[in-house]
Amino acid sequence: FAKPSQQQVDSVCPFCGVGCQLTYHVNDGKIEHVEGIAGPANEGRLCVKGRFGFDYAHSPERLTRPLIRRAGAPKDPHGELRRLTPEQVRERFREATWDEALDAAAEGFRRALASTVARGRRSPVAGFGSAKGTNEEAYLFQKLVRTAFETHNVDHCTRLCHASSVAALMEGLGSAVVTNPLRDVQHADFLLVIGANPAQNHPVGATWIKNAVKKGARLVLADPRRTELARHSWKHLGFQPGTDVALLNAMLHTIVFEGLTDPAYIEAHTLDFAQLKAHLADFSPEAMAPVCGIDVATLREVARAYATAKNAMILWGMGISQHTHGTDNARCLIALALVTGQIGRPGTGLHPLRGQNNVQGASDAGLIPMVLPDYQRVADGPAREKAERLWKLAPGTLGSEPGLTVVEIVDAAHRKEIRAMLIQGENPAMSDPDAAHAREALAGLDHLVVQDIFLTETASLADVVLPATAWPEKTGSVTNTDRCVQLGRKAVPAPGDARADAWITEQLARRLGLDWAYGVAPDGSATDDATQGIGAVFEEMRALMPSIAGLSWARLRRQGAVTYPVVDAEDPGQPVVFTDGFPTPTGRASLVGAVLKPPAEEPDVEFPMVLITGRQLEHWHTGSMTRRSSVLDALEPSPVVSLHPETARRLGLWAGAQAQVRSRRGEVALPVRIDEGMPRETAFIPFAYAEAAANLLTNPALDPVGKIAELKYCAVDVRPV
Ligand code: SF4
Repeated sequence: FAKPSQQQVDSVCPFCGVGCQLTYHVNDGKIEHVEGIAGPANEGRLCVKGRFGFDYAHSPERLTRPLIRRAGAPKDPHGELRRLTPEQVRERFREATWDEALDAAAEGFRRALASTVARGRRSPVAGFGSAKGTNEEAYLFQKLVRTAFETHNVDHCTRLCHASSVAALMEGLGSAVVTNPLRDVQHADFLLVIGANPAQNHPVGATWIKNAVKKGARLVLADPRRTELARHSWKHLGFQPGTDVALLNAMLHTIVFEGLTDPAYIEAHTLDFAQLKAHLADFSPEAMAPVCGIDVATLREVARAYATAKNAMILWGMGISQHTHGTDNARCLIALALVTGQIGRPGTGLHPLRGQNNVQGASDAGLIPMVLPDYQRVADGPAREKAERLWKLAPGTLGSEPGLTVVEIVDAAHRKEIRAMLIQGENPAMSDPDAAHAREALAGLDHLVVQDIFLTETASLADVVLPATAWPEKTGSVTNTDRCVQLGRKAVPAPGDARADAWITEQLARRLGLDWAYGVAPDGSATDDATQGIGAVFEEMRALMPSIAGLSWARLRRQGAVTYPVVDAEDPGQPVVFTDGFPTPTGRASLVGAVLKPPAEEPDVEFPMVLITGRQLEHWHTGSMTRRSSVLDALEPSPVVSLHPETARRLGLWAGAQAQVRSRRGEVALPVRIDEGMPRETAFIPFAYAEAAANLLTNPALDPVGKIAELKYCAVDVRPV
């Protein structure tokens, strides 16, 4: 029984993209418990992370003072990926005042910029912003990189998340947003969930899917792993890892050649159907069944059920996007919806499930190297001119060439072309593919500044560490997977001298010669005043972003949640989009055929198994927050490698036995978990654990369009230790 709280503050969950609203119950400046409230995405529901993942904010490991690396202190990219001990921290860093630390941070960037006249894509400086921060923080971060560093070398974890989905959606539909909110599953008769594990990664979203099934919707789960949602499914398609295009093109072939398309929709709203039909001729179910491992009858049955459903909806996750053919995978899903007209109505459409709580908002705000806020391409002259006017820049300041992406920036740092980086709340030492390579690149920088709430594996390699406020310690907007902009509210004070990321960015900007005068509060608070602080930042975003033109700071403060597009003050917001055409020059969507390509690295004699990486219910991404949340850490305290029982038996392994998992890039040792749902000869490792970091193994090979790495497939060897 919780004691009565002195204070109750409504906010938004800091973890996944579902965007559940919650109430922090606070006593004496500490969160004591959390309750779900009736937000549009959750109606009071919370998963275990939302309910119990809050005490990380009060961890004794929080950064409370700025740190500056001691002269000559080692940066050890090859050491074990473990938290530094307090003695190691003291050996490597000294505490500093904010003025000292900000001066040192700015001076390092000035030095790097003075070392060369190269700017734009060849700038010696780059920045990784964060999908864990607010929209305002993301907006200010990309503005700082673009204006102070004169480069579009700014990216964030969307590159490792849905970059390929975004590329395919922009190409096909002219917009990368979800067409329908997740809760629209209640209006669907048929659901295709592919390459996603919502029961673990979007748990409250999964409850809506299960409710839809109870009401009679047919659920098809397409995933090499038989995950929890399979129990609720009409069919589970356990296809061979990496053969998504074979599976989906076989479905498209069935629909197109059995005459199950919607000719009126195709005629009115799409381009290039004839080319798509010709392309699909080679992808009959008979030809594709041996490739994807799903029998012909099932491929045809599922395709027919999708095409003939009254309303059918597709939801997908990183199983689709994190491949060297991720853009092709997403092109197939887009084509499925378009040729059947399963789009533009409630209960239909395309929903790439966004991962982090603000990956949608951070992308909208322009934390992407090829687009300005609201996906206005940097190559678009009028869009650049509008930003230059608003940001009071000389005409021509913003370049027209896209910047480098996450993996490209790391590679450029490795080649010593990028010399200095600013990282806000991201942990590439753990999250990037081939993590040893990423750590070498970070350690080799002349100047690395990291803003974070903990001394993460990345911050441990920094020259200057700036202690930031955690999610419950600041007010700002956040946009969930449904395009719903919600207000996160400050509930507790930050520890020690920790300051809001937006304040840090503004102070850095001023030291780098920019005349920013938002007056962001250092303690993360915000008021109703739209001319000062976070309110002023939001209003500037609104002036640059047509999608939220009708959402004023005052309206957001009043309503707390509004779904964009919201074009004017009278617009209630538009949960379902593309009801009559698409935001392309012709108003039509493009049908793009997908080619069949193997993964970049296939199993062979030395590395005979496939590794899939991902998340698990109790931990979020690199674990920096959830592994410091006492209940979540108690539930899942250590890394595991999941194997099918027969595979484990063949390898001489059993539940709890210690296994060594080795790829061409690295190795980890960790206990085995037996999982009947795993495909044979395949291993699954969550990437939250530094002591067995899955990304030491993963392949950095990129999708050529989306520039996303193949985190869902690489060749490994597994054996007893
Ligand atoms: Fe938080 Fe996602 Fe769980 Fe909701 S479903 S409580 S947003 S982690």
